[in-house]
Amino acid sequence: MTATEFEAIPAVAGAEPRLGTLVMKFGGTSVADPEKIRDVARRLVEARAAGNRVVAVLSAMGHSTDDLVRLAHEVSARPKPRELDMLISVGERISCALAAMAIHDLGAEAISLTGSQAGIVTDTVHGRAKIVDVRARRIHEALDQDRIVLVAGFQGVSTDQDITTLGRGGSDTTAVALAAALGAEVCEIYTDVEGVFTADPRLVPEARKLHAVSYEEMLELAASGAKVLQVRSVEVARNHNVKLHVRSTFSAEEGTWIREEDDRMLEKALISGVTHTREETLYRVEGTTPSRLFAALAEAGVNVDTIVQTSPEIVFSAPADDRDSATDVLDGLDVRWSARDDLGKVSVIGAGMKSHPGVAAKAFATLAEAGIEPEVVTTSPIKISCHIRTDEVETAVAVLHRAFELDAPDAERQHA
Ligand code: ADP
Ligand code: ASP
Ligand code: MG
Repeated sequence: MTATEFEAIPAVAGAEPRLGTLVMKFGGTSVADPEKIRDVARRLVEARAAGNRVVAVLSAMGHSTDDLVRLAHEVSARPKPRELDMLISVGERISCALAAMAIHDLGAEAISLTGSQAGIVTDTVHGRAKIVDVRARRIHEALDQDRIVLVAGFQGVSTDQDITTLGRGGSDTTAVALAAALGAEVCEIYTDVEGVFTADPRLVPEARKLHAVSYEEMLELAASGAKVLQVRSVEVARNHNVKLHVRSTFSAEEGTWIREEDDRMLEKALISGVTHTREETLYRVEGTTPSRLFAALAEAGVNVDTIVQTSPEIVFSAPADDRDSATDVLDGLDVRWSARDDLGKVSVIGAGMKSHPGVAAKAFATLAEAGIEPEVVTTSPIKISCHIRTDEVETAVAVLHRAFELDAPDAERQHA
């Protein structure tokens, strides 16, 4: 059995399209220092001057979210999730307040809002809350007053009135949910690379920028390690038909469009990308049923990825970050279990796979030639994933990227 389960979709009430509403999200590197914040302010003022109603979603500056998480753990070994959310939601507020000041200096009107003030309502799960509603009245009012609206990403207020955060990379989801709720046709995601590439461009310099990717492919790419978009943001985009444009903050180049699949996407390239994660813990469990095991893991908030059952053994993987929670659950269940911490994962993804047999054979042959033996293999209609040793991940990405000719110009897909 193979499962890559995507979470349920938030009920973001769809809105009537309001002509000219533009949602622009800027990631941490894009607002990393005062000069970059002034640059972003300039971009927002230009977008406003071009006639758009501008809503900007900002991430925390640089690595400040990591710094806040570290700070929490310096004070307490196991900080309470509610207090951790109070702390780590602060980074995004700082960016928005500073950007509003920079916009005022440029002679334009702006207002910064926390997620809560912006009407982002979530469930009560701290650290990985889901947006359940967007009450955008205050945003509409500010836009009607001709202001640029800056919304702190990654956070909301729960139905219990506590501050929540949406999981790492969650500002993407704030932006897409707002685009859906405001009826914006496109959500622009500004980041530190020029778009979505055939592999992480920091690892594979010859990776190609993809011009167009379907929602389904982007879900698989994001879920298997292409951290350029949070998985949940792609789900919300797909469900509300929000087109995403992933592009660079530091250039005016066209980036990557994420939208409905069309025939050209299937025809052009067999494979769209190779993704990886360096660390993913693989567990082997005996002496329980899947229903009991996965209910307990879900209860503890462990993000189970791959599941393989070969009776009597259940094998599953989860992010290295969830190791402590998973250990607590397994110790509490009175089962025999073991875990491997020396594995990562490499995946080959492409909608073209559906109509072309032989992709799996080629992937395995390529890995074997490089002396790499997968520990566990899982597939979906458009993905093949192999758990391999962490120290083999870089090589695996490189040889697969080459074998599927992703460094050739044909790997790019034109958006027409
Ligand atoms: P931001 O702070 O703007 O949200 P992230 O760090 O979350 O940016 O995501 C951008 C990073 O994602 C890039 O710097 C890049 O290293 C990484 N990445 C991984 N895989 C891919 C891919 N296939 N295409 C583009 N970027 C990728
Ligand atoms: N600042 C948060 C993080 O680092 C959210 C984001 O950047 O999207 O995960
Ligand atoms: Mg991100």
